[in-house]
Amino acid sequence: MSVITVGTMAFDAIETPFGKVDKIVGGSGTYVAYAASKFVTPIQQISIVGYDFPQEEMDELKKRGVQLEGVEIVPDKKSFFWSGKYHTDMNTRDTLITDLNVLADFNPVVPDSYQGAEFLMLGNLMPKLQMSVIDQMKVRPKLIVMDTMNFWMEIAMDDLKEVLKKVDVLLVNDGEARQLSGEFSLVKAARSILQMGPKFLIIKKGEHGALLFHGDHVFFAPALPLEEVFDPTGAGDTFAGGFIGHLAKTKDISFENMKTAIIVGSAMASFCVEKFGPERMKEITQDDIKARLNEFVQLVNFDIDLV
Ligand code: AMP
Repeated sequence: MSVITVGTMAFDAIETPFGKVDKIVGGSGTYVAYAASKFVTPIQQISIVGYDFPQEEMDELKKRGVQLEGVEIVPDKKSFFWSGKYHTDMNTRDTLITDLNVLADFNPVVPDSYQGAEFLMLGNLMPKLQMSVIDQMKVRPKLIVMDTMNFWMEIAMDDLKEVLKKVDVLLVNDGEARQLSGEFSLVKAARSILQMGPKFLIIKKGEHGALLFHGDHVFFAPALPLEEVFDPTGAGDTFAGGFIGHLAKTKDISFENMKTAIIVGSAMASFCVEKFGPERMKEITQDDIKARLNEFVQLVNFDIDLV
């Protein structure tokens, strides 16, 4: 069962109340690939990097079953660079710099060997490029999941709305759901967004968990209360990778299974925030994931007698 993942592979500079890093590997596609490859392989990556992206990182991804034929390397340009600073609550951040670099003239090409993939994860990227990948698929994947962010809502809202018409699942955070719909109530926002195209909507609320909407149904997955959150960067992408990884592994795209998938996504995100960059994702084992999923079961399991 193959999964195509699309997104940025980048360098980030991050400042949190716990520390600062000037240059660390990041990017939406990087985080999605690390998380999804824990559940299913191959992961067929589509992205673009410059001359400066470390070969060791590419090798590390390959070792985990991430195919890189769809990752273009531009020899005379720098990789995408993003810099962000987190507020003390760690749930909100300011983007300080977005240097598109190689991304400015990226034309993603879906390699022939990727055709036929049943799952497509459109990580956070320019909406026009997300659309181009959908258009290149000769057979529509069984499930198309899309992530995006406020940055693209501000500069490419019309393009974003076109992509929305073509996807099955949209992942956004609460602020983005409000921005996209113009509604403050998340229930009203969800109703409005579900009319824009996607049949399923996931609203991520950082340390307050995530909501899954489908028709008139809503399901809530908590975030694990952690003693220390070092760096939330990539948590959303890691959530997305765990979500699609679980669905692809189980080959079941029902609402019931999506409930489990958002718990899996939350568990993966809870690892991601424990260290700067994708470091923690490289360390964790299948046993770590099982133990963490069990913590989620304990967290929400209770008995009640309704008389
Ligand atoms: P997240 O914390 O899940 O929202 O993802 C953070 C990652 O997204 C960082 O590693 C950045 O390199 C990447 N990123 C930041 N801004 C953008 C953007 N406008 N488009 C694509 N990727 C981005």
